[in-house]
Amino acid sequence: MHIVVLAGGIGGARFLTGVRAYARSTGAEVTAVVNVGDDVTMHGLRICPDLDSVMYTLSGAADPERGWGRVGETWAVKDELAAYGAEPSWFGLGDKDIATHLVRSQMLNAGYPLSAVTEALCQRWEPGVRLLPATDDRFETHVVVEIDGAEKAIHFQEWWVRHRGEVPTKRFVFVGADTAKPAAGVLEALATADVVLVAPSNPVVSVGPILAVPGLRAALAGGPAAVVGVSPIIGGSPVRGMADKCLAVLGVPCTAAAVGALYGARSTGGVLDGWLVDSGDAGASVPGVAVAAVPLWMTDEQATAEMVRAAIDLV
Ligand code: GDP
Ligand code: CA
Repeated sequence: MHIVVLAGGIGGARFLTGVRAYARSTGAEVTAVVNVGDDVTMHGLRICPDLDSVMYTLSGAADPERGWGRVGETWAVKDELAAYGAEPSWFGLGDKDIATHLVRSQMLNAGYPLSAVTEALCQRWEPGVRLLPATDDRFETHVVVEIDGAEKAIHFQEWWVRHRGEVPTKRFVFVGADTAKPAAGVLEALATADVVLVAPSNPVVSVGPILAVPGLRAALAGGPAAVVGVSPIIGGSPVRGMADKCLAVLGVPCTAAAVGALYGARSTGGVLDGWLVDSGDAGASVPGVAVAAVPLWMTDEQATAEMVRAAIDLV
């Protein structure tokens, strides 16, 4: 069996630990298609937050408390940059993490596509699943906001990390979405998948950008695999992170049913055949989609593997 997972950062990474555990017990192969909308260049380095969250988490090198970056991190370079007054100062760049960004930037500058760079980085980290960026092309999530009475577009990281989403926000824009192509291997993965799982990642700024890569949504809609999503919303709360703020920008209520409806049924032009919600949200329905309710708290690998089993059993 081949399982393809659409994933963002922390929620995607945690979910993938459960997918990997499930796959090990059943002999399945796993490919993760990861959001690149958060990617950004800072201090000359190309940073891929979601790919790194997944890579570090699956290899046990992530900081479990902070939720991003490396465990046992130090911050000497960040302090030195601040001493120079080098902007941006609001972005966390750890010393160990910087080595990853240096290797990545060097390879990208030498002309390797991000998918090849990611594969090279994973030779060290051995995440146990195949990691693919959604696209190798330039693709960034920007946010149209109102600051000091003027409308302007800022990078998603500036909106998220610097402003904590607390500025009047008009809309999200996926820069590059008109010309980007799925990364090498993505369409092949979807064509050979037995099941596609949409991780409980932020639907607006993690899964949304993946689905916005031209050709990807159509490959899901017309592909052979059943598609099952797992709700990132439990009892009206985004558990952690700011999915509620992102959904509000789209005018979508922060509920499991509303996020399921946002993805929509595959039979009516959406992406889902099945939608897994938390036990507390039992009774939620999405037109045209099979819905089941099980505990969705990703407390540990075993609990998460049980969610994966339930998602696959749904179809
Ligand atoms: P990011 O890119 O690092 O923000 O991470 P993702 O987009 O992959 O995942 C963030 C989302 O994961 C949050 O908005 C939450 O809704 C969801 N999430 C986090 N922990 C859990 C959990 O234990 N269970 C479920 N169902 N969702 C979770
Ligand atoms: Ca992210």
